[in-house]
Amino acid sequence: MKFTGASVLVLGLVVGCATLPAGDTNIAADWDPLPASTRTLDMFKAGPDQACYDRETMPATFVVDSHNHFRPFGGKSRPYSEVVAYMENSGVLFANMYGIGQSLPWNSGCTYYLDCVGTPADPSIKNDMINANNLANHKPEHIELTLSMTFPDLANPSDIAETMDTLNEEYPGLWKWMGEVNLVKQALMGNDHEAATLSDIANWAPFMAKLRAADMPIAIHSDLGSNDDQTKYLHLMDEVLERYPENKIIWVHMGLSKELTNIPADQHIALMSERLDKSPSLMLDITWRVIADNYFQTEKNKAAYTAFFNKYYDRILTGTDFVASFNKSFEVYAEEVEVNSTLLEDLDDRAFRYITLGQAYFDLLDLPYRAPDVCRA
Ligand SMILES: [Zn+2]
Repeated sequence: MKFTGASVLVLGLVVGCATLPAGDTNIAADWDPLPASTRTLDMFKAGPDQACYDRETMPATFVVDSHNHFRPFGGKSRPYSEVVAYMENSGVLFANMYGIGQSLPWNSGCTYYLDCVGTPADPSIKNDMINANNLANHKPEHIELTLSMTFPDLANPSDIAETMDTLNEEYPGLWKWMGEVNLVKQALMGNDHEAATLSDIANWAPFMAKLRAADMPIAIHSDLGSNDDQTKYLHLMDEVLERYPENKIIWVHMGLSKELTNIPADQHIALMSERLDKSPSLMLDITWRVIADNYFQTEKNKAAYTAFFNKYYDRILTGTDFVASFNKSFEVYAEEVEVNSTLLEDLDDRAFRYITLGQAYFDLLDLPYRAPDVCRA
C-alpha cells in the first residue's frame, strides 16, 4: 500500500473538518487547510502495514514543529486549542510546546519586545505553567505535543536546577525538553538581556546534569555574531559544547539571526559542519523564516544548504518559530510552515524521511513513532 494525495483526500477532509475548534477562532474561512493536513498520526505508526510516502503526490512540508512558542512575549495569546488547530490544518503532527524565554511585564502593554525597548524582558516560569496546565487537562487527540521548560535565565543559573524540581513536582512526567533558552540574543539587548559569560556557563553544571539524567534535550538560542563581526559570539557556544559533550544540545536557527544576514553560505556551513563532527550530541534547528528569507534565496545557496542537510540528515530539526500572540492567525502559521519548508522538497529520500518526515526527532526523543519509508518508483 502507499499513501497518495488522492487516497487520503477523503479521509483528510473528514478529519480536517472534525478537528476545527468550535467558538472564537481566528481561522479565516477563505484560507484552506494546507494539503499536508491529510496526514494522520496513524501514518507514522510502525508495522507491517505501514504505507510508504509518495513524494510525487504528497506534500513536502514538515511534519514536526520542534519550535513553536505557544505563549507570546506579552499581552494576550491565541488560545491553546486554536494553536493546536493551526497545526492540524497544516499537517504538523508533532510539536514542541515552548513557552517564551523573554516575557514582558503583564502590565507593560507590550506585545513584542522590539516595540518596547527599555522594558525588561525576563524569563519566567509563568508560561511554562500555563502550557503544562493546558497539556495536562486538554491533551490533543490528533497531535503529539512535547512539553518544554523555557524559564531558565542562562546568565543567572543558580536556581535553575531547583526550579526544574518544582516544575516536576507540579506536573510530574510531562516535561521532556528545555528551551528555547537564550545564551546570547542580540535582539533582546535593549530589553535588559545579557549574554551568559564563560563563568555562567560553568555554573550550568547542576542543571545540565539533571537534563542528562532525565535524557532531556536543551535548545539554545546563541547568535553566531553580527554583520560587523560574524563570529563574535561563537566562543560561547564552543564553550558549551566543550564543557557539556554528553548533553543533547540543539543550536537553534543554526546561530543565524536578523543581525547576521551576510555570512557566506560556505563559511557558515563549514563552521556548523566542524561542530557537528566534533560534538556527536549536537543538532541544529533550521527554524525561523529569517533564515529562509536571507539564506535560501539564490540557487547557489539552496544547493549548498540542501547538500549540507543531506549529509547531516539525522542532525536537523524542522519548525516554525511561531509566536502565538493575539495578532497572529492561521494564515500566518500556515505561511511559516511553508516558508520554513523551503528546501525540504529538494532533499534526497533519506534526508526527506529523517528531516521532513520527522525520524530525526523521533530518534532524539525516543518517541514510539516511525517515519514512513519513501515510496520507490
Ligand atoms: Zn524561538
